[in-house]
This record gives sequence, structure tokens and C-alpha cells, in this order.
Amino acid sequence: MIRLDCAPLIQIPDRDNVWHIFARTPGLGGDAWCHLVPGTERALLIDTGFGVGNLKGMVEKLTNLPVDVLNSHNHGDHVGGNGQFARAYIHEADVPGLQAIYDRGKEGPRTVTPPGEVFFFEKEDVQQFKQTEICPLKDGDVIDLGGGYEVEIFHLPGHSPGGIAALDRKRRMLFTGDAIVFTPTYIKGNLRTPHVAPALYSVEAFHKGLLRLQEHLSEFDVIYPGHSQQGLSPQYVPDMIACCEELMNGDLTVHEELATGNNVANPLQVHVHGLAKIAFTPDRIMIKDLEAKYSE
Ligand SMILES: [Zn+2]
Repeated sequence: MIRLDCAPLIQIPDRDNVWHIFARTPGLGGDAWCHLVPGTERALLIDTGFGVGNLKGMVEKLTNLPVDVLNSHNHGDHVGGNGQFARAYIHEADVPGLQAIYDRGKEGPRTVTPPGEVFFFEKEDVQQFKQTEICPLKDGDVIDLGGGYEVEIFHLPGHSPGGIAALDRKRRMLFTGDAIVFTPTYIKGNLRTPHVAPALYSVEAFHKGLLRLQEHLSEFDVIYPGHSQQGLSPQYVPDMIACCEELMNGDLTVHEELATGNNVANPLQVHVHGLAKIAFTPDRIMIKDLEAKYSE
């Protein structure tokens, strides 16, 4: 029997003791990234991937500090390894969705396909998915890691109601989960249940969050998203704002059609402005349309 240790996770060092951890997809979704951000007292692990491979074992080799998890949002490719850690911070609007995943029980997130379907791993390599403490966050909250290292939370709803970006001001790094990615930001499709507030699934709500982030544009040099290419330019923020504004003003031009693994028959409709791309559906742009459709 082949027993994976840390694989399929791969750690990549960055400056000032930050590590980026690549989590290969065990399903049909995209590969994901986690980020280990230490202070002097505690370390923050931003996202936990799919829950395949011993993430905690890897993290303990990279830092001696106690580690808390910060989930960029509540989707299965970002919370799969939460069960290995005592607690996870997450935006309050994503708490019901995270709890729903915990309640589904030990088979874990739906993103994990049966072992061996996409690449080889054993049942034992899927980490036990269990309830751990949930620590709800709000926009503007700061997590103190000691030694002047702290991370500020920016609420960026749209892709998920409680999506966030996390700003490490001392290192001038921004971590954006799936809110700002090299590939299109998905703001599309039917709402997941349970949904707390339909408004928070809209391009309009995303835009509002981006405007606050824009005020802090001079405080970071680089963006690390939850998927695909790392080390993106801060220019994504103003471009994303313009991309949202075009959609909100009724310009629904489809600049790209993207047929991905899950969407071959139904290609994503993508609106582009500069570096920024949003995969959209017309019913999830304006808050009033979402509220009319989902509020009762
Ligand atoms: Zn994701």
C-alpha cells in the first residue's frame, strides 16, 4: 500500500517565513493554494485545501508556533483540512455554509472524489473531517500574530457571502481566496443553501467591498489568490472595480467563453476589464434582483 505523507501538498517558501502550500485537486475542481503566515506568537494558515494529505504534519515542519486557520470562504476546496486544527476564523456570513459542510459529516467536502479517480491516493490520506471551533469575523477585524504582524480582514462577498481578503500590512501581502484570482472570479449560478443574505451573492456587494480595499491599495505590493497563478499585481483591484461597474451599468458583453472540466456543455460567460475577469450570470449582478428572486 502506498501511504502518502504530505503529498499531494507541496510547500514553497516566500520571504519573511511565509509559505505557500499547493494542494493538488483530488476531484474535478482547480488545484488550490493555502498560505502559512507566521507572526512571533502565532501563525495563521489561510485555507486548508481539500483535506487530502497531512497538512498539519507539513505545517508543523514549517513553524513551531501555534497555528490557527483562517478560511478565505466556506467552499470545500478551502476548508477540507480544517478538522486537523483546533479552530478556524471565517467571515460571519460564511458560518452557516461552513456549519452545513461540518454537518454533512466525515465524508468531507463534496469536492473530494473517490480515491484514485483523478490521481492516486488511499482512503487513509483523506483527513477526518470533523467539527472544530468556528470563530466568526467581521469586515475590519484584525488578527494579531505578535511582533507587529497582524492581518486585517476585508469583506469581499459575491463568490461566497462571506468571502474575504486578508492584508498582512507588515509584509505588504494581500491574500484573496477566490475573490480575486488569475482565472475568472465566479459570481454565477444558483445560491448555495443555506444562504444567509441573497444580497451578498451579487456583483454589487463585491464592488462595495472592493471600494474599501481600494483605499488600502498603497499598503500591499502583491496578491496571493486561492487558485492558479500566484504573485498577482495590485492592479487587479482597480480593474476588478471597473469590471464590476461595467456589469452594474448594464454592459453584459461576454469577452471570453470558457469551457472548463465541469462546464464543457455550458461554457462560463466572462466579462473582462484589464486584468480582471468575472464569470457572471445576469441574475447575480444587482442586489435588488437577487432579493426579489430569493427573499421569500
Ligand atoms: Zn476555490
